[in-house]
Amino acid sequence: MNETIEQWNDLVIFLRNNEMEKFREYFSLLHPYDQGQFFMEQSSDDRHTMYTYLSAEEIASMLEHMDSDERVPYVIEMDPRFAAIVFEQMAVDDAVDLLNKLDTDKIASYLTIMNQEAAKEIKHLLHYEEKTAGSIMTTSFVAFYKDETLKEVMNVLKQEAPAAETIYYLYILDDDKTLVGVLSLRDLIVADERVQIEEVMNEQVVSVSAGKDQEEVAQMMRDYNFLAVPVVDFQDHLLGIITADDIMDVMDEEASDDYSKLAAVSDEE
Ligand code: ATP
Ligand code: MG
Repeated sequence: MNETIEQWNDLVIFLRNNEMEKFREYFSLLHPYDQGQFFMEQSSDDRHTMYTYLSAEEIASMLEHMDSDERVPYVIEMDPRFAAIVFEQMAVDDAVDLLNKLDTDKIASYLTIMNQEAAKEIKHLLHYEEKTAGSIMTTSFVAFYKDETLKEVMNVLKQEAPAAETIYYLYILDDDKTLVGVLSLRDLIVADERVQIEEVMNEQVVSVSAGKDQEEVAQMMRDYNFLAVPVVDFQDHLLGIITADDIMDVMDEEASDDYSKLAAVSDEE
């Protein structure tokens, strides 16, 4: 604890003395969650200094580790151009969650400034109704076709892994992108690398439809103990995945909704 106070004091001193290099050196040692805790305690002036010391990518990862509602005021106070790049750098599901809390005018203006590839992905996800599987999923999943060999899969996975939300499960598609199988990373590593995926994949895939209520998705993930679950359309095409960390946020949200309802009832009484 005392160590934290000292670290925080040092960081504040570096900020106030315009010692950017020193600030970055110390700040980068903190976990993004702890970076966020520090950041939220600072004055508006010091936060604005931080926006100039840190890259959009660094700010994005810090925001990803904050509660859904907490981060809203910070993107609003940022220069819109910088905020737009921050959105580009965030995990797409987090970016969508955050944008959904802003006015439509604001959303539209960020989307115009943003690089068009990121904007397209985000726009697509903004269409799903609130509190459904589609609204909390991410499109950064890894998928393969069933006739690839495990060796090919390994090679491609190395390239795709850095950008994927999780590589714990690999989803397997047939030619028209229908979800036909799943393989865990453990399944992949222990199998003979010369065989085709379809020989080792698990064909009984449990999935949820994009319109499913998020609370039911949470229940399902608890029942099956999955770390991620695939989201499909009505023809079983893979649209995205929902990971366990997003489900923890849902459970928090639903618990506080239930609590507010309970409080409202007792108020009426
Ligand atoms: P470990 O349990 O040690 O972390 P694991 O390979 O057993 O590793 P689990 O998360 O326990 O991984 O998954 C168990 C099995 O469930 C894996 O073989 C995986 O392929 C399968 N699986 C994962 N997601 C689904 C899904 N959506 N539907 C059906 N099976 C799935
Ligand atoms: Mg297991």
